[in-house]
Amino acid sequence: MKVNARLARGLVWALALVPLMFFLAGLAAHDFRSVSSVLNMLGRLTGALGLALLLLAAALSARVPGFDQPFGGLTKLWHTHHLLGAGALLLLMAHPLLLALASAAHGYQLPVKVLFPPLDDIATWSGWLALILMMIFLAPSFSFFGQPNYERWKRIHALAGPAVILALVHTFLFSRTMPANLDILIWSLFALLGVGAVAWRLVFSRRAGRLNYSISAVEAVANNVVELTLEPKRPDKHLQYQAGNFVYMTPLDKQLSAGCGEEHPYTLCSSPTETKLRIAIKDLGDASRAIQSVRPGTEVQVEGPYGRFFPVNGKPEQPELWVAGGIGITPFLARLRHFKALGQAANVHLIYAVQDEARALYADELRDLAQAITGAKLTFHYFYREGPISADFLLETCPDLSQRETYICGPLPLNKLVQDHLRGLGRPRYSIHTEEFELL
Ligand SMILES: Cc1cc2nc3c(=O)[nH]c(=O)nc-3n(C[C@H](O)[C@H](O)[C@H](O)COP(=O)(O)OP(=O)(O)OC[C@H]3O[C@@H](n4cnc5c(N)ncnc54)[C@H](O)[C@@H]3O)c2cc1C
Repeated sequence: MKVNARLARGLVWALALVPLMFFLAGLAAHDFRSVSSVLNMLGRLTGALGLALLLLAAALSARVPGFDQPFGGLTKLWHTHHLLGAGALLLLMAHPLLLALASAAHGYQLPVKVLFPPLDDIATWSGWLALILMMIFLAPSFSFFGQPNYERWKRIHALAGPAVILALVHTFLFSRTMPANLDILIWSLFALLGVGAVAWRLVFSRRAGRLNYSISAVEAVANNVVELTLEPKRPDKHLQYQAGNFVYMTPLDKQLSAGCGEEHPYTLCSSPTETKLRIAIKDLGDASRAIQSVRPGTEVQVEGPYGRFFPVNGKPEQPELWVAGGIGITPFLARLRHFKALGQAANVHLIYAVQDEARALYADELRDLAQAITGAKLTFHYFYREGPISADFLLETCPDLSQRETYICGPLPLNKLVQDHLRGLGRPRYSIHTEEFELL
């Protein structure tokens, strides 16, 4: 399965090389005649490759349910989207610099036409505007500027739409990245992918991609965690999903102090055999805090399912080690509830890491599930009493861990710590699967 995901990601990168191949095929001897012409050729090459990466990054942002599966889930898909975006930015920043150097090397005092184009030079200005917009919408994604406010980040990121359009206008007007009419053909195909994906995301997915549910129960699991039960408005239109999937939920209650109309990702903790959905939400910010006091009857929209944490059609006898931290228990809870609903035996050892007994979510239900499901084992790890999870603890608790695929879901430091221990114990990277509750 890992190989498939790598193959899918590799194909995206290979697609980015298509315009490059046509570009290279169109090169002639005069492109290498002087320093100036080589710089000019490199300038056009970085432009062509940068635009290809930008349009593919846009294409991957579509968020069509199911499309993330071959990539190993939405978080992995968006990792590729981020890499494509960062690559596009670097190449497109080099593009005008190389062209300016080419023009300087050609004998001009100053590369005036590139750096200070006349006002009516729409072709050059559209390129500059696209680049400036890219710098603005990509800046908050770099951790250098600190953790961005998610909703603000999203609003700024929407500038990607005009940036893509301007970059295409620039390319079509100059029309000098590939021989003859290939320019129009190749870029139109890439544009269709990128612009089509953005249009789906911003316009059509809201109508066609969302299901209507209403909240039928709100149950406090801890003082900062609620479990919502969602009932489909139309019984024939309910979500089909697997344990470990997540959805985007948009509450539509204007009386919420925050988050009305905002979509947020949450893992489903119900068994896929239930028609009702269950979602456990921890107060981690303004919207998730407001939802703690949401009223039954509130309408919500649900989009998904996304993610591929557990293997699709995984065999229950496959030995697995699960490590959960805090609210990261949700995908494991869904899987255990599913095993129980099916009356299926399992071969899992769940280590649930929490600060203390009081913070162990669903502790009683987890104990009941571990008892009810043949082959399910449960160990709690209490940070305040035992300190951080150590490699010795993992080995003592689960002596046969070298035979088990490991699934980790919890705060980033816990994810990393457990991965480091497992790698130190000789477990190969491909046997370790993680789910992150962070998408940026
Ligand atoms: C795949 C996935 C599964 C998740 N499952 C659960 C779950 O089962 N239970 C649970 O309590 N939490 C879950 N979360 C986390 C949950 O999405 C955030 O806590 C929530 O969106 C925070 O929103 P806020 O406005 O309250 O906080 P904010 O202060 O706005 O955000 C806190 C952090 O949450 C992230 N975040 C905020 N809004 C979004 C958004 N719309 N999309 C993506 N990330 C966002 C950002 O990284 C941000 O730094 C999951 C997150 C992801 C990515």
